[in-house]
Amino acid sequence: MDHHQARRDQLRRAVKKAEAEALLVTDFTNVTYLTGFTGDDSYVLIHRSGEIILSDPRYTTQLGEECPGVELHIRRPGVSIFQAVIKVLGAAGIRRLAVEADSMTVGLRDRIAAKLPKSEILPTSGLVEKLRQIKDNEEIDQIRQAVWYAEKAFGVLRATLRPEKTEKQVADELEHQLRLFGAKGSSFPSIVAAGPRAALPHATPGGGQIGESDLLLIDWGARGRLYNSDLTRVLVTGKMSPKLQRVYRVVLDAQTRAIAAVRPGVTGHDVDHIARETIARAGFGRYFGHGLGHGLGLAVHEGPRLAAKNPTVLKPGMVVTVEPGIYLPGWGGIRIEDDVLVTRTGHEVLTSVPKKLEEAIVG
Ligand code: ZN
Ligand code: ZN
Repeated sequence: MDHHQARRDQLRRAVKKAEAEALLVTDFTNVTYLTGFTGDDSYVLIHRSGEIILSDPRYTTQLGEECPGVELHIRRPGVSIFQAVIKVLGAAGIRRLAVEADSMTVGLRDRIAAKLPKSEILPTSGLVEKLRQIKDNEEIDQIRQAVWYAEKAFGVLRATLRPEKTEKQVADELEHQLRLFGAKGSSFPSIVAAGPRAALPHATPGGGQIGESDLLLIDWGARGRLYNSDLTRVLVTGKMSPKLQRVYRVVLDAQTRAIAAVRPGVTGHDVDHIARETIARAGFGRYFGHGLGHGLGLAVHEGPRLAAKNPTVLKPGMVVTVEPGIYLPGWGGIRIEDDVLVTRTGHEVLTSVPKKLEEAIVG
């Protein structure tokens, strides 16, 4: 069966369980997941016996190619998407409408409620996002492809790294390489941070030359056809100080232990805790200020999160990042990030850029 049809049928069951007659999907990434349509400005109404995509004439041809067979409601020029929603809901006679509370604006909700006073609007959260957490084989293949682009680009970048290059030049070259290898682009603006700037987990690449520091943190990813990859490596570009060795080893140890724990049945909290404890035991507990990882798919950050108190139980088909870090203000930061697939028996690490300390040395 068609992947998208299977996803819609699964969602229909969730909508029924939420005691609604239909769900209006307003999150564009969720629309893509459910239909294969890659444009935006379009909604999909999932109702008991089918689905209708609400779109506009710019997309008619693309919709025919990307989701043949799905019923379309193409609004005429001058008709707003709100008016199209009212028309479709009215025609379908829907009285209990579920909406995506994390995506629909309060304004749109209020206007629908005013126009259809006899209909009940049920805010829901995460119905589609929950399905998105479990990837099918086609999605996993697309993530593998996104990893391939990222790793190929990094290989070229590493081989051509020169001390006089600036952080921004390195980031720009990396993103150019991703595209040359076939990626649509980067999955997020790359982080390239030298020395003390690596202490900022989300540093933007600046004009400083990378040769002025001993370490270079690179956090990058590729967007393939639709899916993303997300990796972080630290390269040693200068003197290998005892402090650098020590911090690097602690982070790598935390990451190795956490990855080893990834398997069906453990929670996001469990995996985070293993890394956090390893870092705390080495005395750096207060310098690991973010969650251990996140789900990866159509969005570069999605569920499940690997974080303290996160009760989500890992299941086969989930893809998560594992990315512990230690950030020492004024000195620098080390983060190591890989993408990990939860399999039926354990896990598979999808990324393969070397990460042993000796392998991080360039020059
Ligand atoms: Zn990252
Ligand atoms: Zn990440």
